[in-house]
Order: sequence, then structure tokens, then C-alpha cells
Amino acid sequence: MRYENYPLWILLVSNSLSLAIYLIGSLIVVRLGLPWLLIYLAFLLLLEFRLLKESCINCYYYGKRCAFGKGKLSCLFFKRGQGTENFAKREIRWIEIVPDMLVSFAPIIIGIILLVIHFDWILLLLIMILFLLSSIGNGFVRGSLACKYCKQQEIGCPAAKLFDKKR
Ligand code: SF4
Repeated sequence: MRYENYPLWILLVSNSLSLAIYLIGSLIVVRLGLPWLLIYLAFLLLLEFRLLKESCINCYYYGKRCAFGKGKLSCLFFKRGQGTENFAKREIRWIEIVPDMLVSFAPIIIGIILLVIHFDWILLLLIMILFLLSSIGNGFVRGSLACKYCKQQEIGCPAAKLFDKKR
């Protein structure tokens, strides 16, 4: 079974996970000072903007409710792109998803360095929660809630192709 429009509870779970990762990442980065937090938040916004403007416009869920709700958001700001076949043909390389991985990796690395400089149980807890959410949490949401029911994946998805290559 593939969803034409994903149920709202899946959007709630997937976006709660993203917001939790963004929040904990921010709580770690802000320990470097406010300017670094602002840089991190600007980076997150840039990634969201890039997704809506470059990927969602060509996705099957453009204008529809995907697992993340961004198909609906994208059509508010951007015109339809060249469509699902174009999306399916696209090849992405690991280097292109490094920015997405930095969302959690950068705060984790910053946190570990800060821990070495001055040990702090709360910081250790934040790092561990962020690691679990960005690894197991993302794996669950993408594997069990999003990609499994995705019509675009059925047509062809560059991210699915990339991760399949890794398996
Ligand atoms: S499935 Fe992904 S690419 Fe497609 S609309 Fe949703 S967020 Fe955008």
C-alpha cells in the first residue's frame, strides 16, 4: 500500500523528530555563544529552503501531504518543477547529503569537544539523545513510516537509490 496523502499522525511523528533534533542541536551549539546558534539556525533554514525549492517541486507529493508535510508547503512558495520522472532520474552522491548529516553531526562533535574541555552530565545526556534520535529515530521514521508508503519511491527516488547502494 502507498499513501496518496499521508495520515496526519505520521506528519506529527516525523516533524516532532525533526524539531527535537533541531532543538537539542541548538541547545548544544548555543554553549559556544549566541552567534554560533544563529549560524546553526540559519543553516537549518537554508537546508529546509533547499529541500522545498529543489526536491519537493519535482516530487509526487508536490501539493499533497507527504510524510513530512513539505509537499503542501513547497507548493505555497514554488511552482511545480519538471515532475516525478525528473525526480526519479536524478542521481545524488554522498557528498550532497553531507549538509543534512551535519545537522546532528556538528552539534555532536561540538558537544564531545566541550565535554573533553569541561565534563557536564547534562551535555553528555543531550549528546546521547541527539545521537539516538538522529540514528534510530531517523531510521524508524524513514524506514517504517515514510519510504515504506511513498509513491515517489515506487516511481524512483534518488535518496532510496543511494541508500540501497550502501546496503
Ligand atoms: S517526500 Fe520528500 S521530496 Fe517529496 S514532497 Fe515530501 S519532503 Fe519533499
